[in-house]
Amino acid sequence: MTAQKIDGKAFAATVRGQISDHVERLKSEHGITPGLAVVLVGEDPASEVYVAAKHKQTVEVGMASFEHKLPADVSEEELFALIDKLNADDSVHGILCQFPVPDHLDERRVVARIDPSKDVDGLSVVNAGLLASGEKGLVSCTPLGCLMLLRDQVGNMSGKEAVVIGRSNLFGKPMGQLLLQENCTVTIAHSRTKDLAEVCRRADILVAAVGRAEMVKGDWVKPGATVIDVGITRIPHPDKPGKTKLLGDVAYAEAIEVAAAVTPVPGGVGPMTIACLLANTLTACCRANGLDEPTGLTA
Ligand code: NAP
Repeated sequence: MTAQKIDGKAFAATVRGQISDHVERLKSEHGITPGLAVVLVGEDPASEVYVAAKHKQTVEVGMASFEHKLPADVSEEELFALIDKLNADDSVHGILCQFPVPDHLDERRVVARIDPSKDVDGLSVVNAGLLASGEKGLVSCTPLGCLMLLRDQVGNMSGKEAVVIGRSNLFGKPMGQLLLQENCTVTIAHSRTKDLAEVCRRADILVAAVGRAEMVKGDWVKPGATVIDVGITRIPHPDKPGKTKLLGDVAYAEAIEVAAAVTPVPGGVGPMTIACLLANTLTACCRANGLDEPTGLTA
């Protein structure tokens, strides 16, 4: 059996289209424009690329984009003063501080300073707690994107065996919670898991988020499973000197022979992350204004 390649790029474009339609209605019917503020500290080239991509897509869906660039040696006090200002600004519905930040700043303290109702990265302890309690909050963007892909691909996930490899606060834990909410039987595996291959082989839904290139082999995949590959490892390109290539955690060529559907890397989960950042900003804006939330764009 040859599996379906899950086209995350196309799906993300569809999601952005839904967001754009909803934003248009918010503007025309209520005179409200959702706004996303992105804070970048320092000049990390990779972060600058991410922030530019976020700005472009925010503007494309019709939202207001507010960029704040701070010098690498900014004090915590100055950064917090900016966050406090954004927390109090009614035209800002989502706030994101691009990580990593320079070493003298503590990421957990930065996240904690953002009003949880504007924490569109879903990284705060408050939002993690709301998710764990099954209550409404804002969900970390990459797991939310995976959930959307899975709902589209699998439909009803009730009773399915789901295995998530990786237990980070950023991805593995919220992904496990989301799958539990979908009534899956969830296993969260990690570096101490015994016989990982055997654990993976029982998964109807296998989500890999480790960061070890092509660790998940074809014979780790249950026939007919849906495989979501979150991992990203950059290696020197084998054919193009000086260029790099991205690899996922799943040996794609092997998995595609066994699974029902697999996300490629690149072009699978990656494009969903920014789409979900915009989805969270829209959700936060609707909640702040007491309006109905967009359907299909939340957990
Ligand atoms: P992380 O914080 O480093 O967590 C990695 C997890 O993998 C840990 O829980 C670790 O277990 C587990 N692990 C490490 N080696 C393992 C092994 N040999 N067998 C089983 N589990 C193992 O990373 P993360 O932030 O969750 O990200 C994971 C990957 O997803 C990275 O490649 C990252 O770049 C990618 N990612 C992609 C996106 C996207 O937009 N596409 C977004 C977020 C992350 P322990 O807890 O026991 O150490």
